Amino acid sequence: MAVSGRTRKIIWVESGGRCAICHRQVLTPATETDDPSIFGEEAHIVPASPGGPRAAGRLGMTQAQIDHHSNLILLCSPCHKRVDDQPNHFTIEELHRIKRAHREWIASLGEQERPPARQAEKVTAWPSIVLSDPADPNSAPAWGATIRNASELPVYQVHVEFVPIERWRGLLAVVIEVVPPGDWLVSGRKVYPKPDRAALRPDTWEMPERTYVTELRFTDTNGQTWHRDRRGVLAEVP
Ligand SMILES: [Zn+2]
Ligand SMILES: [Zn+2]
Repeated sequence: MAVSGRTRKIIWVESGGRCAICHRQVLTPATETDDPSIFGEEAHIVPASPGGPRAAGRLGMTQAQIDHHSNLILLCSPCHKRVDDQPNHFTIEELHRIKRAHREWIASLGEQERPPARQAEKVTAWPSIVLSDPADPNSAPAWGATIRNASELPVYQVHVEFVPIERWRGLLAVVIEVVPPGDWLVSGRKVYPKPDRAALRPDTWEMPERTYVTELRFTDTNGQTWHRDRRGVLAEVP
């Protein structure tokens, strides 16, 4: 009845967006034309109305206690129906036990699957044309790389690897201790902020063909090291 938005969030996060009984996700993925569809329901263990299943448990409970997250369990629609149709099997104690077991299962998943790579996803590098001498805006263009740190925090121990397309050339890795947020250009072993104005872009008429692809390795602010391969695919480095 009066389950607050905050309480609903707690329920959804605690249960990992999955039904506590059948464990399936209660959100179907979006398609190109439709938003994701939600069939999860925050079910009351002790019912909100006196005529509901397991109503005997209402005795001595306030409405606030009944709408508290501790009395709610996230279920898919079919499981919610079962739970309300079979109150002798799905007793108050049984539902609390199911909820607890589900929460433990979700927590154990969290240990294996680390949280999403929020910062790492915002750190990229790609081959680009740079100044051969960053100190001289009129110097000739050269091949180098752009590093983009679109996160709000620096990344550390950044290795930009110039991997030769043709095998006989040597691999060059430029190591940068700290890369603050922003766009940075790598020229040889020098790193400099990307100029704001495109006008500073050197004349690239007579550039030779690019002979390398870039790969990136860096450590995020949580101390986790990441590798982004030449196709841009991000992976944790153990
Ligand atoms: Zn279910
Ligand atoms: Zn119900």
